[in-house]
Amino acid sequence: MTQDTKAMEAARLEPCPFCGGGNVTTFSSLFGEANTDAPLRTVWTAFCAACEGGGPHKDTAAGAIAAWKRRPAAPALPSEEVVESARGIVKLDRFYPAGVIKVARFVLSMVASHDQ
Ligand SMILES: [Zn+2]
Repeated sequence: MTQDTKAMEAARLEPCPFCGGGNVTTFSSLFGEANTDAPLRTVWTAFCAACEGGGPHKDTAAGAIAAWKRRPAAPALPSEEVVESARGIVKLDRFYPAGVIKVARFVLSMVASHDQ
């Protein structure tokens, strides 16, 4: 059993600050910098299965768990300027790439859930 496996089993990750979901786990993936010859490296992150929110990349599972424990209680809300841009993107959705529309819809959902 590796140190990271032990850390994962010992940790009970707190609910997601973005959606409140309780299905938060750590996982590893290979990470590489674009346009370099640097070798890929294994990184760890905490990840919410419900909303796909997550923590920063860390070199170990224990590091990812520690970063998740230090996460903000709630994400900062986008500025009114960003919200207006998101509304415009959603309104004209066929002119934007799917990833941009997904982000715009997420921005609007953050504001909507905060206003409830
Ligand atoms: Zn979530």
